[in-house]
Formats: sequence, structure tokens, C-alpha cells
Amino acid sequence: MTAQIRTQVTVPLRFPDGYTTSARVFTFTGLADGREHLALGLGDWRAAVAVAADGGPAPLVRPHSECLTGDVFGSERCDCGPQLREAAERITTAGGFLLYLRQEGRGIGLYAKLDAYALQDTGLDTYQANLALGHGEDERDYTAAAQMLLTLGAPRVRLLSNNPDKATQLGALGVRVTDRIPTGVHLSAANARYLTTKRDHTAHTLDLPLTALAS
Ligand SMILES: [Zn+2]
Repeated sequence: MTAQIRTQVTVPLRFPDGYTTSARVFTFTGLADGREHLALGLGDWRAAVAVAADGGPAPLVRPHSECLTGDVFGSERCDCGPQLREAAERITTAGGFLLYLRQEGRGIGLYAKLDAYALQDTGLDTYQANLALGHGEDERDYTAAAQMLLTLGAPRVRLLSNNPDKATQLGALGVRVTDRIPTGVHLSAANARYLTTKRDHTAHTLDLPLTALAS
């Protein structure tokens, strides 16, 4: 299926810590799953696309999966909020795109994610909890992400992510990942167990300080 740009509009952004930037926000028609995914062009994204088209380095891209609790309410059960904030600044500096993907809770949805939190409070880890609810460990699909990148003229990307599955899926969908650039580690007392599980279970590249994980 071919996606097309539906609208584009400039939106000034301000994060809770005061950081500001400006996003060119794109909406699309023809995305595979019919959801309202967004692409945010940050920094000099036009130049980044043009440089790549001339054979230079690819634009910096982060596919970010929606996390209402982390992105909006600052939940410390995960690291999504700080990762979103970090990505906005790094992509603004480098020029590129932040893809805001409407696949909450690794694709299982908001209510199911909160159900999984409740199960985690009884001792299951984040992946075991999803399975106990009858879901896959990770149901995220990057087809729409690849469609948006190809539509925006970015068939090659430098991927800002610790998740090897994103690179694998994008590659299979026709987007060449020239580099994988890890994000910072956003550790808190509340998310230490979650981050450890992510690292050990799915080979996320996370350099976690051992002392922080002793508890
Ligand atoms: Zn989250």
C-alpha cells in the first residue's frame, strides 16, 4: 500500500523541563493499519533528507511508540517520557524525524498495559505479564513507520534506538538502517527492574550501572 502525506503543519513544542523546539507535523493517508500515526520533522529535516539523497549521511530517526502514562503523565514505571524528550532534542540538533506511533503498551493497548502493570505488581515481569493476558510479548509493528519514512523521502535512516527489533523490522520493510545509535539510559528507582528485563530479554543495548540494579 502506498501512503501519502495528508497534511503538514508546524507545531511549537515545549517540554516540562522548558526545552523548546518546533516540529513540522505530518499526517498520512494509506497507512497499513489505519491508525493516526504522526511524523515530526525536527531541526533541519529538509537538509537532512537532501544530504542523504546526495549520498551523504542519513537523517536521524526515532520510531517512538505511544505511552500515555510515560509521555503525558510522567510515569516513572518506564523510560518513555525521558526517551521522547531526549529524542526530540537529538533529532532537532541532527535533523530528522520522530515517528509517533500509536501502539500503546507494546501494541496491546492502554487498558491491557495497565492490567499488565497490575500483574507485574504480583511478581511477573513485563513480558510474562503480557503473555499472561493472552498477548504477545511485543505486538508492535513498524509497517506504518516504514511507509511514513519512504513517503517522506527517507529510505535510509540512522536509527536512534536501543531496540534491535526496530532495525530488523524496518530493514525487512525496505528502510535501510545505516547506523544504530543508542539512546541514553534513563534509570529511576521505579523503572530499574523494567529496564533490566528489557536488556536481558530482548538484547536492548542498555548500559545499566550495576549498583543501581542491586535492589
Ligand atoms: Zn512507557
